Amino acid sequence: MSKLENKVTVITGGNSGIGFGIAEAFKNEGAAGAVVGRNTQTLEQAVAQLGNNFMGINADVTNLADLERTFKDTAEKFGKIDILVANAGAGTTGTVADVSEADYDKTMDLNLKSVYFTVQKALPYLNDGASVILIGSNAAHRAYPSFGLYGAAKAAVIFLAKSFSNDLLERKIRVNIITPGTTDTPAFDKFVPAEHIEAVKAQFAGAMPIGRIGQPSDIGKTAVFLASDDSSFLLGTEILVDGGMTYLA
Ligand code: NDP
Repeated sequence: MSKLENKVTVITGGNSGIGFGIAEAFKNEGAAGAVVGRNTQTLEQAVAQLGNNFMGINADVTNLADLERTFKDTAEKFGKIDILVANAGAGTTGTVADVSEADYDKTMDLNLKSVYFTVQKALPYLNDGASVILIGSNAAHRAYPSFGLYGAAKAAVIFLAKSFSNDLLERKIRVNIITPGTTDTPAFDKFVPAEHIEAVKAQFAGAMPIGRIGQPSDIGKTAVFLASDDSSFLLGTEILVDGGMTYLA
């Protein structure tokens, strides 16, 4: 039997990159549910690839009314929610000398505040015993140049996995976090001029202890583990999926 048969999921940012990799892995294990993002075109593409058991929800995760609508609509269609993945986010760059207040607020709103309220607004619709998976970053563990603010937001999200698990003990809702290292997604491409992407990826791969950069499917497989009963003894914990880059390189 598939590991996620009859399970219903909501995946924020499920229309691209890591979120889509998680959605595909969940689908392959029998899950149904919703992928959430703002871009209508990529939402439609994602749903076309995931099939009839998935729907796209156009919503901004920094908007609390959008989040409430997301979970209400999913629960209305599927009757329940078993697995929540708070994945939507984006790397931002800047040093302490040049990050503006607006950049600060934007980074924190998307990478920290949105995660907090994604989980809060899902709570009325989550089954007892549900699995909540947060997506952090290895940038929370190491001071990569110019990724300080982003890393700080993601470090706070690691703490949320613990405190949410504690808050939700009575309902046996397990909250865990995956912290990816460099992963091959459209977000990675945004930091590099198009003509240099392949060369930069090869350079990154060469610098990785494991000899390659991560793929969304690497995160998808880990998410299946955290979503399924195989991980029933894990709560408030982190899985670093980074090919060794954070501590071994
Ligand atoms: P992508 O840019 O490929 O995907 C980001 C997703 O988030 C998109 O689906 C996007 O959808 C969604 N999103 C962004 N802002 C919002 C918003 N305000 N409301 C709703 N959805 C939003 O990036 P990745 O797949 O690489 O990143 C996914 C997660 O993984 C992020 O949290 C990122 O920080 C983390 N991560 C990525 C790493 C990497 O190397 N790629 C490494 C470590 C962590 P839309 O545009 O439609 O809104």
